[in-house]
Amino acid sequence: MSDQNIKRTDVSELGEFGLIDRIASRFKLNREESLIGIGDDAAVIDFGGVPVIVTTDMMVEGIHFDLMYHPLKHLGYKAVIVNLSDICAMNAIPKQITVSIAISNRFSVEAIDEIYEGIGLACNAYDVDLIGGDTSSSPKGLIISITAIGSVAADRITYRSGAKAGDILCVTGDLGAAYLGLQVLEREKQVYLATPDMQPELSTKKYIVGRQLKPEARVESVRYFEKVGLLPTAMIDISDGLASDLLHICKASGTGAFIEEAQVPIHDEARMQALEFHLDPITCALSGGEDYELLFTVSPSDLEKVRFMDSVYIIGEITPKEDGVTLHTSGGQIHPVTAQGWKHF
Ligand code: ADP
Ligand code: MG
Repeated sequence: MSDQNIKRTDVSELGEFGLIDRIASRFKLNREESLIGIGDDAAVIDFGGVPVIVTTDMMVEGIHFDLMYHPLKHLGYKAVIVNLSDICAMNAIPKQITVSIAISNRFSVEAIDEIYEGIGLACNAYDVDLIGGDTSSSPKGLIISITAIGSVAADRITYRSGAKAGDILCVTGDLGAAYLGLQVLEREKQVYLATPDMQPELSTKKYIVGRQLKPEARVESVRYFEKVGLLPTAMIDISDGLASDLLHICKASGTGAFIEEAQVPIHDEARMQALEFHLDPITCALSGGEDYELLFTVSPSDLEKVRFMDSVYIIGEITPKEDGVTLHTSGGQIHPVTAQGWKHF
């Protein structure tokens, strides 16, 4: 059968966000309970009471993790955290998860126990209940897909879209370390494959490797906002990198922004590692990803409330859209901020 007339578009032509936009354009929300659908860190539904926040994230072996250096227990933990982080990005508190796994016959019962030990640790640490899931076999790799459910008062939900020119841009912790941790693990893997009796030397890289293998979700920041009556005007969690995630806020809010390079928090160990790899530390902070810090904006009148947060850095400001999204370098230059994009396809 000839397929000459059938158009075939490579997914890489659209990219991840283009593909999601294409899917989203096919569906509109028809039910009154569906308040927010595709497009933010999580969906919002309301059955006539407390709004419920729902998000799903999948981790695929060979794409999101490599079992040569991601221990199964950590993997289970991280798969939960990346979902809880998206709930936090809506200013909500995570309450329940469902966990679906697809496993090949490479995995023993004991291996699956380890994954669930990590999932259990995350559930305990964040006071979240596992309420269900699904189990399937897979022809080859391991896939973990988790849905997280949370809640927040209707007037405290934060979206990507609420930032206004003049708002202050803040982040809850240092950036770039998880990416550099991954580069170190990848290098040690290559060394090990070439010379299996060489022991990896990771003792001076505990922080960055820890940020890659065992991220945390910033529930404490969400609790702080509630305690002091601070409502960020916009919020997102940094999963793809500061640049890409700031661009999401600016696009959704119809604004520009600038980041002050000198104010972007980068851990000393990350900075050292970047230099060892001949990478610019700020590039790692902008484009690394997997930091799972919250990037949020607040009205200037709330500045005092932000200053007293346990872990917070003021890194820039929201500007009118015409000003674009820029980086003010320590050397006094202004560069446009661009998303490095997505390399999965
Ligand atoms: P995040 O990085 O915060 O997890 P994503 O970039 O994965 O967010 O997703 C952005 C938005 O697109 C979310 O609202 C998500 O629910 C939605 N989305 C992603 N993939 C799909 C899909 N295949 N079908 C429907 N919605 C999707
Ligand atoms: Mg997110």
